[in-house]
Amino acid sequence: MIRVDNARVQFGGIRAVDDVSFDLPAGQITGLIGPNGAGKTTLFNAMAGHVPLTSGTILLQDQDITQMTPQARARLGLARTFQLPQEFSRLTVLENLMAAATLPLGESLLNVVFRRSRFQDEERAAFDKAWETIDFLELAPVAQTPAGDLSGGQKKLLELGRALMTAPKLVLLDEIGAGINRTLLARIAEKIRLLNRDQGLTFCLIEHDLAYVRNLCAEAIVLVQGQVLVRGPVAEVARDDRVIEAYFGGGKYEAPA
Ligand code: ATP
Repeated sequence: MIRVDNARVQFGGIRAVDDVSFDLPAGQITGLIGPNGAGKTTLFNAMAGHVPLTSGTILLQDQDITQMTPQARARLGLARTFQLPQEFSRLTVLENLMAAATLPLGESLLNVVFRRSRFQDEERAAFDKAWETIDFLELAPVAQTPAGDLSGGQKKLLELGRALMTAPKLVLLDEIGAGINRTLLARIAEKIRLLNRDQGLTFCLIEHDLAYVRNLCAEAIVLVQGQVLVRGPVAEVARDDRVIEAYFGGGKYEAPA
């Protein structure tokens, strides 16, 4: 689905992502794990186009997207959620979802003025898709609630919904399960599994809770100090001495030179 080759992201003297290469198979749920500050979010930002690569390339279904804007990547099917939900707090859940829809006409005002009927058709399609998403995520009771009034867990569900509104092929989930209650956590896991099984959606998720990762992911990629330390089935990498050292060894693990 996506291939990252020799990716590096440098902030001043810090190599947050340091020569990272991996691919994500289509139709798989992959975990991206590692201690705090390992570079996981920066890697997601680079994949989604929110920070530029200092060097390296990213191919989405064999197409080079390295220089593309986040919007262009989204149109090709790459969606991401943010650690801190990015909803419009005064818009309702329904309005937030409609605002997230990618309309083929784009935002051109000329299109709106001169092709009003087509625009209205697309607005209708976004409305229908938003309700489909609300039903799927079981958000109907809060569909007309301003997003700012939702609980933390409901905001995370809305964040997933906003990603789904772009008709993605690959979704990057940045700590979608962090800090939410068990019921919503289980619901999010169930929805991810259904989207993967029934629609073939490919996921990559950053999560600190290893049990959650093991429950959902076929494989995990472990990032430490900006580098891929190991990749494999979650149960296996969780037993790997180098991973245990990186998590619990008080920072004694040194990335290879
Ligand atoms: P966490 O699990 O705590 O969210 P992470 O693995 O997602 O951590 P990043 O947030 O990607 O790690 O941070 C990797 C390194 O890059 C850290 O040293 C961080 O301080 C640094 N960093 C991240 N973003 C920036 C930025 N915009 N400018 C400067 N340094 C940054």
